[in-house]
Amino acid sequence: MKFVSTRNPGDTATFREAVLKGMAPGGGLWMPETLPVFEDWDSLLQLRWVERSEIILRRFIGDEFDQDAFAAAIHSALDFPIPLAQVRRGLHVLELFHGPTLAFKDVGARFFAHILDLIREPGRPLTILTATSGDTGAAVAQAFWQRPGARVVVLYPKARVSDLQEIQFATLGDNVAALAVEGSFDDCQALVKACFNDAELCARHGLTSANSINVARLLPQMLYYAEAVAQLHKQDVRDGIVFAVPSGNFGNLCAGLMAQRTGLPLRAFVAATNANATVPRYLDSGDYRPQPSVATLSNAMDVGAPNNWERIQHLFGGDFHSLRQALRWGFKNDADTKRSIRELMGMGYLADPHAAVSYAVLEERLGLSETGVFLGTAHPAKFLPVYEAMGIQVPIPDALAGLRERPLLSKEIPNDVAALRQALEER
Ligand SMILES: *Cc1c(COP(=O)(O)O)cnc(C)c1O
Repeated sequence: MKFVSTRNPGDTATFREAVLKGMAPGGGLWMPETLPVFEDWDSLLQLRWVERSEIILRRFIGDEFDQDAFAAAIHSALDFPIPLAQVRRGLHVLELFHGPTLAFKDVGARFFAHILDLIREPGRPLTILTATSGDTGAAVAQAFWQRPGARVVVLYPKARVSDLQEIQFATLGDNVAALAVEGSFDDCQALVKACFNDAELCARHGLTSANSINVARLLPQMLYYAEAVAQLHKQDVRDGIVFAVPSGNFGNLCAGLMAQRTGLPLRAFVAATNANATVPRYLDSGDYRPQPSVATLSNAMDVGAPNNWERIQHLFGGDFHSLRQALRWGFKNDADTKRSIRELMGMGYLADPHAAVSYAVLEERLGLSETGVFLGTAHPAKFLPVYEAMGIQVPIPDALAGLRERPLLSKEIPNDVAALRQALEER
């Protein structure tokens, strides 16, 4: 399948090229040129998670890879369960946090790591350089940890990520280096950008970005929507399935809309944000105004200028009317988020703050005869301070408890490109 730029249909790439380039020329994003419509969803939905996922991905990009290696990569990338839990009659949560870093970003990051293994030139090691405000760095670091031929350098703002986030990338060691920058997340991003602008440095270290706009992180996110529909079909729920997606950069929603285009039987998507409501406000008013982000309890969605929104516009050919017809939307503030966490607890379910936002918007937008599914994008234990402030105990999963015992291996560097260059040379 060919991939095209959202900015210029004349810019095309193979999947390999799109992954390695990251962005299309002029800042465009890569999208599949066409989305195939699958006539066999009925039988696809009867397959098991990994088998179905392999077949679907094969139809998109399989022709670029050796068949056995491709299958093996997908099987090991997607080797954790995606359970659908019932919250009450007609309301379910799709739990996307059973991977190694307890957030849905594991799906994209693990697929990216495994597919990069097939894409990179043998014998030429890569350095994955990534700036993180928390979750992405953890998912990328864990996905590449102890994989031969690649090392990961994570830049993060010193003392500005949570302890539990930090231990997920800074205790690993081996081929994962964590650099605590004396500065903000924006400073980290600027340092990374400066490195990518240096052609000589890129070539020497095989610098590669694991940015969330990489198409290799987007594609596998289509798969779990199919898994949710498959699990509902098993329970004889076939009609009126509505997904609510807690959104920040809107990659997750974009992937869902792509799955819908391939004919996956579902009724609608609800775009849910926190107070960073650039998209809901746009859908209300027709006026697209990116804003500086504000801090909320659902901090992985604190995005004022969502970088995947351009992809969703592209899917709808920039047609505001059909976009409004396809979507439902809403946004919730921190007080609503806490209220929703308590409401869900009353039904016996402990949701993370992001899931709680999507639940709150879903409750307003779900029709009486419909079945709602909100996405559980992270484990609540990743946001302990939120629950502590609410007087709620959260059990710590083993994956986090084990890392807490390990020493932090991060190195501090000043907010300075020369210091980063030197750190890159050191290993
Ligand atoms: C990244 C993230 C989101 C937002 O996903 P997008 O694809 O950027 O819209 C939501 N919840 C959690 C826990 C996340 O880490």
